[in-house]
Amino acid sequence: MAKLYVVPTPIGNLEDMTFRAVRILSEVDLILAEDTRTSHVLLSHYNIKTKTSAHHKFNEHAQVEKIAQEILDGKNVALISDAGTPGISDPGYLLVHTCVLKNITIETLPGPTAFVPALVNSGFPTDEFVFMGFLPVKKGRMTKFKSIAEELRTIVIYESPYRIIKTLEQLNIYCSDRTISISRELSKKFEETLRGTPEQLLQHFTQHEPRGEFVLIIAAKK
Ligand code: SAM
Repeated sequence: MAKLYVVPTPIGNLEDMTFRAVRILSEVDLILAEDTRTSHVLLSHYNIKTKTSAHHKFNEHAQVEKIAQEILDGKNVALISDAGTPGISDPGYLLVHTCVLKNITIETLPGPTAFVPALVNSGFPTDEFVFMGFLPVKKGRMTKFKSIAEELRTIVIYESPYRIIKTLEQLNIYCSDRTISISRELSKKFEETLRGTPEQLLQHFTQHEPRGEFVLIIAAKK
């Protein structure tokens, strides 16, 4: 029986690829990649010669049935995204869901994802946390801030360098007294974790232009 393999890939540091991820990607019949050009760098680094095909948020709805049928017909397929674990703020959910409905076996490999190192690095309680991914840009954004203000568990948010200031400004309105841990450029050369109130972090980023990729960990409401 062929399977769908969901394979995490490094979030910056190519050394974070597991031996098993390399083997699975080398052995499957097809790799579905969010961006085949981005993944080409990783695949050629590990000398993986498997055929690739693009699978992203713009074509996944049209593709999932066909892919599931190919797996049922005996083709082993692996899904990767540009970085980290597919399905975590990346395409993946729809294909996995479709495969579940068709009784296809799915193996998701353990591996890189940005929020786990950021969460553990924060020093905030990790026994209960809520992952919010990217906050909505417009509709529903205020509702999210209101729920963050009342949240009794540690909160995890993904953010881009272009919106981090705006998000900190809004956190300063809704929960100015909470400590936030910001992890930037995880696993890369300029990795750093900063901790402080929204106001302290805003001060930092007005002096140091925000660059790279960010995970925000917000302490729970006391
Ligand atoms: N699938 C990925 C995962 O498993 O974490 C997430 C993909 S999402 C499109 C990209 C976001 O993840 C970035 O905007 C940032 O919030 C976070 N991220 C990815 N790589 C990161 C890194 N090296 N350091 C900090 N945050 C990162």
